[in-house]
Parts: sequence; structure tokens; C-alpha cells
Amino acid sequence: MTADASQTYHLLRKKLHDVLPDFEIRAKAELACRINQLKGDLGAVILGHNYMEPGLYHSVPDYTGDSLELSRLAATTDGDPIVFCGVRFMAETAKILSPHKTVLIPSLEAGCSLAASITAEDVRELRERFPGVPVVTYVNTYADIKAESDVCCTSSNALAVIESFKTDTVIFLPDEYLARNVARESGKHIIFPTDRPIPGDKQDPHMDYQILGWHGKCEVHEKFNVEDIENVRRQFPDVVVLAHPECSPEVVEASDFSGSTSAMIRFVEQARSPRYLLLTECSMADNVAAENPDKEMLRLCSVRCPHMNQITLQDTLDSLLQNRYVVDVPEQIRLKAKRAVDRMLEIH
Ligand code: SF4
Repeated sequence: MTADASQTYHLLRKKLHDVLPDFEIRAKAELACRINQLKGDLGAVILGHNYMEPGLYHSVPDYTGDSLELSRLAATTDGDPIVFCGVRFMAETAKILSPHKTVLIPSLEAGCSLAASITAEDVRELRERFPGVPVVTYVNTYADIKAESDVCCTSSNALAVIESFKTDTVIFLPDEYLARNVARESGKHIIFPTDRPIPGDKQDPHMDYQILGWHGKCEVHEKFNVEDIENVRRQFPDVVVLAHPECSPEVVEASDFSGSTSAMIRFVEQARSPRYLLLTECSMADNVAAENPDKEMLRLCSVRCPHMNQITLQDTLDSLLQNRYVVDVPEQIRLKAKRAVDRMLEIH
């Protein structure tokens, strides 16, 4: 092991000794050291989403966080290429905001069940069926879906974005549970037109609803249920339960706090309780545990996102060595998608 790799190993070990076995920390430190050297030589910037595995998350990213905050940060740096250790829709968002930089994603397999739940054609059809109704799209979507939307939103600002419209009704895509959670929070009625086709092509003026949703789901967050929470509470009565708003409304209601990944991280940092249950992707709980060694993180760790799991240190190294895989967004789509993102930023 070189002196640099040994230094990386000691830094990683200090953070991750309770999370990863020593042999794994050693192997990852060697890879991370090569990546960091190459990153410096190339002038690259590496972004690490909160769901990256702990060995990667704590070693190579220049920035860690939510997908949108990472893309916005990358646009303010000189780093080029941008290597996005996250899934494809996130890398597309980085490209939307940094059109003149090369954006790389370490694996082509890093998709997303939620982003894949809807097509641009689906959005156009909804617009035809509900003319004049504004379309709000969660940022966890591909660029062509954003391009068909009036405005984007995040899990933190979804309600503020919906309420910024002065219309009675909005189309909210594609996450069913986020939409249901926003509807619950705001007292709005929600229907799913794919389930209940309305006769004819036009909106039924007699139907009482304010949000038109879609049946997209995050395959990680949909797995949690109220029974999970009750079981953990029985065993650990003092546990504080945090749920991502992509979980079902029943799960969110049974939790003590609901917020985006960054909001959950901030909550744990600032709270005083000794024990937490994070209902989100399980690597994030590992990463939060490593940053908060005085607090205990309980997790239901059968729940690893198979898409996030595709991004490894080896792939990140190969990405830099071979300038792969380049993420492009056609300019016409990029401009329209950027307009939807910019509108969101004006509101929030
Ligand atoms: S955690 Fe869910 S929303 Fe995030 S990439 Fe995986 S499937 Fe998509």
C-alpha cells in the first residue's frame, strides 16, 4: 500500500470501522486513492448521492447530498468532467445545468423504477385529456419528462410548488406516494386518471379533485410498512422514526418525521435522541451512522436500491480512465427541462 493509500485507509477506517469489515476498507482505500489522484490530474469533480455505499461516499466525492443540490453545486465549480455517482436521471439534471461540461455516469445500469414509470408520451396524453391543467413533475424523472412539464419540484418543496398555481387542479407526476402525502398534508383530493378513465377526452367538471396523480413508485420506499415501524417501536420504545415522503402515507403518518434525504440527515444531526430508524435506502443509514457515532441507527437493511448499487468505486475509476459513460441531453429537450427546473427555483 502506498503512503497515500495508507492515509486514505486510516481516514476510512476511523469513520467506517463499525460499518464495513477491515479487508473491505483496505481494498476500497486503494481504489479511492487512485480515483482521487486521477480526479486531480483531470480536473474532474465527483458528486456522491446520499445513497452511495459507505466506502465510496466517504472517500471520493467532492460533494455529497441530494440530486438537485449536487447538480446545482457542480454547475458552480470549474470541475470538468463531472462524474455523477448516482442514477441516470440525476446525471441528466447535472447536464441540464452544466451543458458545456462533460457529465459521466459510472454505470449504464443505474436506472430508477420511479423515473421509468412514465414516458413523455404519457405526459402529452394527460395534457390532452386535461387541457389547461398545469403539470408539476418530481425531479426524479428523465429529462424528456421534465421538458414536458410546467415546473419541477423536490420532495421538500412539492406542496409549495403545487400551491403556487392559482388553478383548482394540478397534474402531479409520477410518484403516487409523494402525491398522496402532499394531498394529505394540504387537504386536497387526489385521483389517478389511469385507474379511473374519464369518459370522453375532456376533464369531467363534476368530479371533485384537485390533484391528478400517477402510479409511479420508488421500489425501495414502497417496501416499508406500518408493521415494520410497530415492530421496531415495540422493541425500542425510544426510537425516533424518520420516513422519506416516497413512503406510503400510512408509513409517513406512523413516523415521527418525514423529509428529503438531506432533511433527514439534518434532523439526526440536530436531534438529541440516542436511537433512530431511517426508512429510506439502507446505505444512507450507514452513511449517517458513520457521521454520528454517538447515535444508533436502526435500519431495515434488506432495502438496498438495485440501481444505486450499480455504482462502485471500480466503475468510478473506469469512468475517469476511459471517459465513460457520457450523459447527453438533446439541446431542445435540455432547454425546456431547464425552464421547468428554473421555475421551481423561482418559487422556492
Ligand atoms: S431509491 Fe428509488 S427513487 Fe432512488 S434511484 Fe432507487 S428506485 Fe429510484
